[in-house]
Amino acid sequence: MKLNRQHVESTALVLGFLAVALASSWTSLGMQIDKDAYDWMLRLYEPPPWKTETMLLAIDEQSLQTSGGVRGLRTAFAEGLTFLAKTSPRVVALDATVADTTDPEPDAALGSALRQIPRLVLACELLPDGSEFEDPLTRFQQWGAAIGHVHADADAVNRAIPLEKATGKKRRWALALEAFRLSRNAQIVESLNDLEVAGIVIPARRADSRRMWIRYLPPNMPAVPRISLKQLRDNPARAGEFRDKAVFLGVTAQTATRDRLMTPYSGLPMAGVEIHAQAYETIAQGRFLTPAPGWMELAFCLLLTIASWAAFTFLTGARAYLSAAGVLASAHAVPYFLFRNGTVFPYAPALTSSWLTLVASAAYQHFIVRRRMVRAELDRGRYQQAMHFVTHEMRTPLTAIQGSSELMGRYALTEEKRKQMAQMINSESKRLGRMIEIFLNVERLSAGEIELKQESFSARELVAICVERTLPLAERKQISVAVENIPDETLTGDRELMEYALYNLLTNAVKYSGAHTRVTVRGHRDGDRLRLSVEDQGIGMDEKETRKIFQKFYRTSGAEQSGETGTGIGLSIVEEIVTRHRGAIEVASRPGEGSCFTLVLPAHSAAPQDATLTNS
Ligand code: ADP
Repeated sequence: MKLNRQHVESTALVLGFLAVALASSWTSLGMQIDKDAYDWMLRLYEPPPWKTETMLLAIDEQSLQTSGGVRGLRTAFAEGLTFLAKTSPRVVALDATVADTTDPEPDAALGSALRQIPRLVLACELLPDGSEFEDPLTRFQQWGAAIGHVHADADAVNRAIPLEKATGKKRRWALALEAFRLSRNAQIVESLNDLEVAGIVIPARRADSRRMWIRYLPPNMPAVPRISLKQLRDNPARAGEFRDKAVFLGVTAQTATRDRLMTPYSGLPMAGVEIHAQAYETIAQGRFLTPAPGWMELAFCLLLTIASWAAFTFLTGARAYLSAAGVLASAHAVPYFLFRNGTVFPYAPALTSSWLTLVASAAYQHFIVRRRMVRAELDRGRYQQAMHFVTHEMRTPLTAIQGSSELMGRYALTEEKRKQMAQMINSESKRLGRMIEIFLNVERLSAGEIELKQESFSARELVAICVERTLPLAERKQISVAVENIPDETLTGDRELMEYALYNLLTNAVKYSGAHTRVTVRGHRDGDRLRLSVEDQGIGMDEKETRKIFQKFYRTSGAEQSGETGTGIGLSIVEEIVTRHRGAIEVASRPGEGSCFTLVLPAHSAAPQDATLTNS
């Protein structure tokens, strides 16, 4: 299909919208849309259930109360660990930073309890200023096989955790990752884009702090199994359930900790210790979600934008709207299908690129293209009218010529009569010739086919010739034509066309003025330009009309009602002529008061010189 102006314009629009769409991901609204869409997709897609490896040993409200409140926490941990020591869990992660010394007794109890756990991960936290890790006391550290950080993504809803945290000197893996590593007795092998532990490759880029999305246990599965300390105390046999499990020991009591975060699933905040367990599950199951690569995002948005644009550019009516619906459906569905396969596609750019382009293309088609079509139709109508007029106009001289020549051939006429008729035939055929010439010129001039002649001529002479030609017309309406101060300037260009232009303004001034009025031609130099104006006291026109009179075939209603014949072509040719001469035409008019048309032309003073105008 051949590309036209409309296609080029809309392509520019489309590219603009693509840029906006891609940028939308970086706006706060775009980010929020991406996050909400992520939560929505996570909830919508339920992965097949799996067997959980983790268990929680929870210090809940009741356990805390019976352990003497927050102050008794270390004793509670010691008690829990002692239960665990007897059942040989696969690994134990203590989700509490035991960084400072409290009372000697509970500290000693905790120390000896920790000692009994062979695969133990202790928790550390990065200080808020990021300068240092707050590590467990050395006396506790010695019993831990590893230390993992307990940070989550700083967001109201927790979707991911950074697997790595580092100060300038030290680096720590996440508690869940360390627990998993110990559970497998393996090493963490790093590369730029992922981590590998016991054959499981975790897609987590170093550049993003090894951020890992947590695949929370879906609602079709029971939550991470948990036993509270209180329950263990009441029924110590239950400790057996921890055998071979990855146990996360921590506080779930709301009164003791603010360590709770919302998740995409839960209506209630989830305790930090459970979030660590869920992260462990994600790693153990290898059910990772990875961000879509940049090229995929760009390609999909480009595809959506092009499809949206094409829908309204190449199709119309119901078919355009159906295709638009198809584009929208894929903009919504594709990210979800990618999600099902573990790829997280940002929703905002897909949404923006499709909606924005669709709405814009539809609006563009509706307002601009349709308007252009209407205008073209009007032009065609006016053109037909004009052609009608032209043929009609031509018929008059033709009839005169035919009639006279017939009379001359058929009858013996007096010498005087014969001479009169021959003169009429001559002048009518000249008139016909001029009309044909003008109409041919219109087309050729606007098609840029006419070569401008390069002549130098006097502005005064130009005015004098045109005024002289206008006088008979003016006299018929008893209109006086005055010429004031035309400076002695030299104009360069096509004299004949320039005469046509000025003559046109003069005849219009006479045509559209009442009897006994005055037409004035003035001139003055304005910098390197000559301003030639033709002012009348005629019917004038309003501002809206002045903007339209240079359109081909346009005539004001006043002109139509005046009874003066016209085609509405003259001024469009005048404008074409002056712009081809690097000049301009201006008009000032008021309804009922008159009009003033001014030609602004490049000029130079003194005697005529060599032509300098080059064809444009
Ligand atoms: P035409 O005179 O053949 O209709 P033109 O292109 O010369 O075509 O002019 C276009 C229209 O501009 C005219 O039909 C008329 O409505 C308006 N116009 C031009 N000159 C004047 C004028 N001096 N006073 C009032 N209206 C004018």
